[in-house]
Amino acid sequence: MELHIESLSKTYSNGVRALDNVSLTIPQGMFGLLGPNGAGKSTLMRTIATLQPADAGSIRLGDLDVLEQSAELRKILGYLPQEFGVYPKVSAVMMLDHIARLKGLANSGERKETVDALLQKVNLHKDRKRNLGTYSGGMKQRFGIAQALIGNPKLLIVDEPTAGLDPAERNRFYNLLSEIGESTIVILSTHIVEDVKTLCKRFAIICGGEVQYVGTPHEAVRMLDGKVWSKSISKSELETHREKYQVIATNMSEGKLFIRIVNDGHPGDGFEAVNPSLEDVYFNAISAKMDLVTL
Ligand code: ADP
Repeated sequence: MELHIESLSKTYSNGVRALDNVSLTIPQGMFGLLGPNGAGKSTLMRTIATLQPADAGSIRLGDLDVLEQSAELRKILGYLPQEFGVYPKVSAVMMLDHIARLKGLANSGERKETVDALLQKVNLHKDRKRNLGTYSGGMKQRFGIAQALIGNPKLLIVDEPTAGLDPAERNRFYNLLSEIGESTIVILSTHIVEDVKTLCKRFAIICGGEVQYVGTPHEAVRMLDGKVWSKSISKSELETHREKYQVIATNMSEGKLFIRIVNDGHPGDGFEAVNPSLEDVYFNAISAKMDLVTL
């Protein structure tokens, strides 16, 4: 099964065009939606999740017309929103049981089995009786995935789930998501390039409501082969370099300022060739739409 998004557009009442003719085909597995804050990622996620309408365009999941058959879609959707609130004084096991009942699991024996299996899957079984208010950020996110997985969704949407997680928690979360991606369409929205690099077979870069790139991380990096150059400069030279070159990033290393540029041939001027990275692809794709990004 694939998710087909066709010419989707959305302008909010304040005039912001959050989605501008977005078309994407998303196969089974982990799909990354990468873009800076304000790119339109949450708008796209909420539209796919049937939580808000689009102005134009269509979304199909297999034979299902998502925007017309929202009740059907919701039966096979798992959604972890960006702002995922939990009731602090309720235990994980009680809360999951409650959500499972709301989702229509009426038989208490079946419900207990489902909830137990999910708690095992997200590695929270031993902490299941603790109140959610005592959970760390990573534990809350794993709980969020558990609630999203009730009812075995065919489509799982996770909106910026790794922001704020420490490296160990992030790793645990990556493992969990990649396991789920073996049997489900998972759309992961993120502004963290590392998330895409680690997890996603395919990804899209979205900026200003438009799709700037779609493909595999490997193909994306290969497109910049032989085109990325770097050198260290003094701060006072930055402005003239910005005027002269397509600067995609500046970063400090050992107290020195380095710039990275994209240029078709060797620019001379003291630049050295560097291996392109997925960060370069990302900043190159969004730099046309945004002011210079400082790493
Ligand atoms: P992202 O998830 O990539 O940060 P969003 O989809 O949240 O992007 O936002 C895209 C653009 O739409 C932003 O400019 C944002 O300010 C605007 N926006 C989002 N939600 C609303 C809303 N309910 N009303 C008006 N503007 C909105």
